[in-house]
Amino acid sequence: MAFTSAQSGENYRNWWPHPAMVAFTNRSIDLLEEIAKDSNNRINMNRRGYALATRDSNIDPLLSQLHDGLGDQADALIRFHTGDTADSYARFDKPDWDGVPDGVDIVQNKTLIKDRFPGYDPDIQSIIHIRRGGDISGQQLGMYMLEYLKSVGVTRLTGDVKAISRQNGYTVELETSDGMQTVQADVLVNAAGPFASQIAKMIGVELPVYNTFQQKIAFEDREGAIPRTLPFSIDLDGQHIDWSDEEREMLLETPEFAWLAQDMPGSIHCRPDGGDNGKWVKLGWAYNEKPEIASTELPLDDNFPDIVLRGAARLNPALKVYYGQLPRSMHHYGGWYTMTEENWPLIGAMGPPGAFMNCAMSGFGTMAACASGELCAAIVADAELPDYATEFSLDRYKDEDLMSTLKAANKGVL
Ligand SMILES: Cc1cc2nc3c(=O)[nH]c(=O)nc-3n(C[C@H](O)[C@H](O)[C@H](O)COP(=O)(O)OP(=O)(O)OC[C@H]3O[C@@H](n4cnc5c(N)ncnc54)[C@H](O)[C@@H]3O)c2cc1C
Repeated sequence: MAFTSAQSGENYRNWWPHPAMVAFTNRSIDLLEEIAKDSNNRINMNRRGYALATRDSNIDPLLSQLHDGLGDQADALIRFHTGDTADSYARFDKPDWDGVPDGVDIVQNKTLIKDRFPGYDPDIQSIIHIRRGGDISGQQLGMYMLEYLKSVGVTRLTGDVKAISRQNGYTVELETSDGMQTVQADVLVNAAGPFASQIAKMIGVELPVYNTFQQKIAFEDREGAIPRTLPFSIDLDGQHIDWSDEEREMLLETPEFAWLAQDMPGSIHCRPDGGDNGKWVKLGWAYNEKPEIASTELPLDDNFPDIVLRGAARLNPALKVYYGQLPRSMHHYGGWYTMTEENWPLIGAMGPPGAFMNCAMSGFGTMAACASGELCAAIVADAELPDYATEFSLDRYKDEDLMSTLKAANKGVL
């Protein structure tokens, strides 16, 4: 919880273009729901879904991705709504995660869209509403787990791993607040997030991972621009950011900033934050694809708040009220997406005997934490494994068919 996990948008979804990721995130959400039940929903789990909005009425590519992910169940799980009203399109006024439909509602009627999403850009033609999605408190999830571990007697030692040597197991050199310490271990699990490849190198392993820096903003929505009941909303369409003509000209004249006045990708997202009685909103846009060496100093871009605000205002025009006047208490933050090229995690044996990894969690590590921890623990303990175990291990790189399918597929980066 000290590094990337503390910067997470804390959203979850079972929407992925491949059945392995669907099964994996479904399992993780099952476990999150169990924790929510056991803890009187201490993790503030809610479930208003992910609303994917587009100005296109042809959504065939998306439908085909949904079919790829849902497999045989797709026809039973996808519901189309084309009339002005639809009783079968379950409402999302309440935050409850329990008793909410699974599957996907596809809404392609402007009157119905206006009724359920009155604040959206009136040009929206189609909404693909993924129902098993929402957000949780990652911080509370981490505390819940730490408290459990403490209660069963786990010892926690905090420090920087400086070196690892292998001889009758592993010797880990740790720099702690009390000076250098050595830990002898039979089993090593590399869960070092953006620094996973550095840890792997200490025992001579190269991991196929890289880091890109992603940012978000959160601010108090004093003007009430975003309804508290809005699902996690994603504008799927690429766009030109809404600059004034003068701003656009200035940007185009400066080579360093010209890209901001040109084509920008889709998938900007917005959601209310802090519950139904809260006032904050979160905006994010993972447009950066540049691999970088991860550092603890985070390269926040001062222009990001304005960029993401103007981008998000395209789907939610009421956000325009904040142009040039984002509240001073705005929180601008970010972290590294540590990812493989195919955007799948790496969980399992890392090479030398006794060395394991649980990393490359990209933009899905909060939602996947429970299932990835469960899978990694089962591998270490040599217990029964779920079907997706091989697919998330290094063995997947031996499966040429799978790798070429993944290369050609949408990667699900948000
Ligand atoms: C802006 C942003 C938004 C995101 N939004 C979402 C979201 O909405 N939903 C979602 O599911 N996921 C989201 N994610 C992804 C999620 O946050 C990450 O996938 C997840 O937090 C990764 O967890 P981790 O434990 O692998 O890494 P980290 O949380 O970074 O943990 C790694 C730990 O290893 C420690 N470490 C590293 N090197 C060493 C060393 N040498 N010695 C000792 N300790 C070391 C670090 O200090 C750190 O505590 C988002 C990520 C970002 C950056």
